[in-house]
Amino acid sequence: MNRREFLGTLAAAVGDRNKTSDTEGRFGLSIKLKGRKNSSIKRWDVITIGNLSRNRYWGESKDRGVRSAICSCTVISGDGFHIIVDPSLKDEEAMAIELDRRTGLSLDEIDAVFITHQHGDHHFGLKHFPKAKWLAGAEVAAGLNKSGSYGKPIVAADDSLFEAVDVLSTPGHTMDHHSLRFDCKGLSVVIAGDAVATQDFWVERMGYFNAVDFELSARTMDKIASIADIVVPGHDNYFLCL
Ligand SMILES: [Zn+2]
Repeated sequence: MNRREFLGTLAAAVGDRNKTSDTEGRFGLSIKLKGRKNSSIKRWDVITIGNLSRNRYWGESKDRGVRSAICSCTVISGDGFHIIVDPSLKDEEAMAIELDRRTGLSLDEIDAVFITHQHGDHHFGLKHFPKAKWLAGAEVAAGLNKSGSYGKPIVAADDSLFEAVDVLSTPGHTMDHHSLRFDCKGLSVVIAGDAVATQDFWVERMGYFNAVDFELSARTMDKIASIADIVVPGHDNYFLCL
C-alpha cells in the first residue's frame, strides 16, 4: 500500500467512525467506541494544559518541586450551559485571557465550576467566577467551605450535572476525589482530575507522589480505562484510550 492508499484508508475509517460506534476498517482495524451519540454536549475545550511541579518521568525527585504546578482546566459546553472544571489560574486577567483564547467566552458566561478535589492548584481560579454555581463532591465541598477560603458556598454536586455530565467517585489520589464523564460526538470523555496525573503516570497506573492510596489509584485508573475513549488528566494534555 502506498502513502496515498494508506491515507485513503485512514480517511475511510475516520468517516465510518462518524456514522457508527463500531468501526471495521478495510484492513481489520476495529475500534469500539464507548460513548453515546445522543448527548447534549456540543463541545469541550482544554483551557490550560497542566504540568506537575515535579515529574518522575522527567527524572525529577519527589522531594522538591522544581516549577509551579498548573492543573489542566477544561470547559464543557452543552445545551444552554458552560461548566469549567478545575479553574487553574490565580490571576484573574490571565484566566480571562486563556478562557477567551480557547472558547471566546468571558468569565461571566460560565454557569458552573466543578472542583475535582481539595488541592489548591485545582481551585486557584475559583474566585474569578462569582456568578457561577460552585460544585464539588460532598466531602470536598464541606472541607473547602469549612476552611473559609471562599466567601460563597461550594455546593455538593448530584450524580449528574445538567442531565448530561456524570459525576464519578475516583478515589486514590484523595479519598473524596471526583471526576466527570460525558458523551460528545459518540466519544466518552473523562475529565479525570488528579485521578490521572499525566499520560506517563497512566501508562504505568502510577499515582502521583502525594496520592493517599496507590493501589486504589491504580484500580481507579483501570475503571476509567473501561469507560473512556478520551482522558483529560490533571496535569497534561488529553489522550486517547481506545
Ligand atoms: Zn491533587
